[in-house]
Amino acid sequence: MTKFRAYAALQAKEKFQLWEYEPDSLKDSDIEIRVTHNGLCHTDIHMRDNDWGISKFPLVAGHEVVGVVTEVGEAVTTLKKGDRVGVGWICNSCRVCYHCLQGEENICKKGYTGLIVGNYGGFANRMRASADFAYKIPDSLDSASAAPLLCAGITVYTPLRTYIKYPGMKVGIVGIGGLGHLAIKFARAMGAEVIVLSSSIDKEAEAKSFGAHHFYKWGTAEEMKNLTGSIDLLISTSSAELDWDLALSLLGNNGVLCFLGIPVSSINVPLIPLIFGQKSVVGSVVGGRRFMQEMLNFAAINQIKPKIEIMPLNQINEAIDKVLANQARYRIVLVSEER
Ligand SMILES: [Zn+2]
Ligand SMILES: [Zn+2]
Repeated sequence: MTKFRAYAALQAKEKFQLWEYEPDSLKDSDIEIRVTHNGLCHTDIHMRDNDWGISKFPLVAGHEVVGVVTEVGEAVTTLKKGDRVGVGWICNSCRVCYHCLQGEENICKKGYTGLIVGNYGGFANRMRASADFAYKIPDSLDSASAAPLLCAGITVYTPLRTYIKYPGMKVGIVGIGGLGHLAIKFARAMGAEVIVLSSSIDKEAEAKSFGAHHFYKWGTAEEMKNLTGSIDLLISTSSAELDWDLALSLLGNNGVLCFLGIPVSSINVPLIPLIFGQKSVVGSVVGGRRFMQEMLNFAAINQIKPKIEIMPLNQINEAIDKVLANQARYRIVLVSEER
């Protein structure tokens, strides 16, 4: 058995280092992938640092994985050797609960399995995964661009796809980062009027180049008063604490405020505007199999690509430093040196 060469953190908060492991024999339902690309997501860093107390060490992170299928288990009928595939955050679920049957494995009643929670992820030359949670990358989408779509992309696609009801709907995006910049591109391609709210005023030109129609500096009620009561869907990708009363006041009737990040553990929601304006405050987490393949196809057709910086996988620790210093624009993609 050939060993897999990975970059692992041997203990919490340690740097990733070269580490080898021997995989179990290939399960009938699994595929083996020669990994070529990994998007670097902040969750990889949270897992390395065991911020949520669920990490197992040695930890091989990487959950925006693109590669080429090198082996298929006997029961796999949907993929073959040589296929270019992607694997995201969700690698398993019960498959039979109501939500799984709807293709919403992200809210599986029994809970889904995270790719790097007790399993080895993509920061390696090879990886194994269930064929059911590996997605074909459309030919017109290059592997480096596809990688960040597998976590960041699906995270913004799911709420946009769920809540955008008609062309021209006013969609506000709070924050321009790995998630926010993709949310702008997807919302624009879905026909929304896109309003970006950011505390970084220097990002206006770039937000507009991504497809934003309007740009506002996130600020005081006075500065944002033109927006009051006008936004149909407000998506918060921000990790900073903001004035949530102000955010709610921007929503029109039937408006939805959707949280993707967890800037604070709870917010106060004023009930009178919520009830009389029939507004909603919701959350959303990655996405299920149905939206994942749809999102990849939609991205390919519309050529929605993240803005990325390419670095070799052996510079993973430098790449993490860059993310932690908030210098990644907007996603780092780690390319495996080995063919
Ligand atoms: Zn992620
Ligand atoms: Zn389920």
